[in-house]
Amino acid sequence: MKHRCPICKTATDSEMHKEFPFCSERCRLLDLGNWASEKYVISNPVFDESEEEDSRPSDPDDNDDNKGAHG
Ligand SMILES: [Zn+2]
Repeated sequence: MKHRCPICKTATDSEMHKEFPFCSERCRLLDLGNWASEKYVISNPVFDESEEEDSRPSDPDDNDDNKGAHG
């Protein structure tokens, strides 16, 4: 009997593949894993990283010119 591996779609043969209809034990376990993973949803915590204020060294702008008019 011939079939295709449900995981990797490799052509499998019941006489050749021990893990039929899977091509290998790995794919068989992956299929089991797929069933198991549907029972629960793995959620990753979301980190909300707020940017810190970066203080730049302010340049003192001293441009003060006094001009007196002679009169
Ligand atoms: Zn496979």
